[in-house]
Amino acid sequence: MTTQAYDWLEPALATIHKAHWHRTVQPLAGKAGPVMQLAGRSLLNFASNDYLGLAGDPRLAAAAIAAIETYGTGSTGSRLLSGSRELHQQLEQAIAQWKGTADAIVFSSGYLANLGTISALVSARDLILSDQYNHSSLINGAKLSGATLQTYRHNDVEDLRQQLSTGRSHYRRALIITDSVFSMDGDLCPLPQLLDLADEFDCMVLVDEAHGTGVLGATGSGAVEHWACRGRPLVQMGTLSKALGSLGGYVTGSARLIDFLRNRAPSWIYTTGLTPADTAAAKAAIAIVQAEPERRQALWHNVQQLQQGLQKLLINYPDGGLKRLLPSDSPILCVEVANAAIVLHLGQQLKQAGCLVSAVRPPTVPVSRLRFTVMATHEPHHMQQLLQTLTQIASSSALGGRVEPD
Ligand SMILES: *Cc1c(COP(=O)(O)O)cnc(C)c1O
Repeated sequence: MTTQAYDWLEPALATIHKAHWHRTVQPLAGKAGPVMQLAGRSLLNFASNDYLGLAGDPRLAAAAIAAIETYGTGSTGSRLLSGSRELHQQLEQAIAQWKGTADAIVFSSGYLANLGTISALVSARDLILSDQYNHSSLINGAKLSGATLQTYRHNDVEDLRQQLSTGRSHYRRALIITDSVFSMDGDLCPLPQLLDLADEFDCMVLVDEAHGTGVLGATGSGAVEHWACRGRPLVQMGTLSKALGSLGGYVTGSARLIDFLRNRAPSWIYTTGLTPADTAAAKAAIAIVQAEPERRQALWHNVQQLQQGLQKLLINYPDGGLKRLLPSDSPILCVEVANAAIVLHLGQQLKQAGCLVSAVRPPTVPVSRLRFTVMATHEPHHMQQLLQTLTQIASSSALGGRVEPD
């Protein structure tokens, strides 16, 4: 007898295809950077989280190789048993110093950091208030915690206040969770106002600095620094895998908070410690970010260039299929597109013309969009090529109605 228990997979996949939601992986070749190879062709990379161009930096590679030679490839155990190395502590201290906090803890990924931290901080008697556009790891951390989860409208401080006024008193603890830079939009959360509300209603705040770390603030430590909110009571979380060019996640804050997480965050306690190579690479990256502010300057210069170019394009080609530039204060720039079919088509056209740009569509986001991420290491001719390609696409008849909406 053959089982039929898995037969549902086929119609489930058919449904995904029908909605234009189906995705597949595309293996890129070559070293991480602004130009990569796909199936033997060179592509300009406007889809990377490697904002400062550090993932391909030889100094990170050298640090990782040295760590492997000293410690081996695996950390061989969980952090509380045999998996802790001095290197982990050095990285945690470097993060805490950079952020101006008392202590830090590194997880094996940012996703695991959110799952473990949120589920350690709150449980069934507690309330979580979550921004509508939060990252999947925040939402799943909230679900895992068993706390009551309420969503407030994106960046809407009044909606949040309303929900706290009516709901806060029914719960023991309360936790506000938010991206600092929204990963699929590029705008910032109103952190000072969120912290004021947290003071008023006796709430904790967890801010996810995945896209802020290395990018925002005078020393690049993130949106908390940008908003001058250092020193305020706060749970800061982030990743080592975006601007820092490595892999892993971190949480930083008071000594009590970090000590508590070391004792109560299951996704840290019951998993193998970060590899020596990733740990050393992240540590080297933090030193570079602090020593080389010119990388951030180059990044913001490129962001401005692309933002201006896109704005001009939207004005010149109002019927080119590109609807509007979403508000952004980060290297994530998004152009809204009518529907999933069109955004997929645009993404493919861009790729054929040599530009890798994310075509983001539901269910990841409510409204389909082209999502461009800028790097410090993009050169002026890279930006020009992208804008020229977009101009050709927008001015061609390809979008004049040939792509049928769903
Ligand atoms: C990427 C991302 C994460 C997850 O970080 P990883 O280290 O890649 O697991 C968490 N939150 C946000 C907002 C992100 O963009």
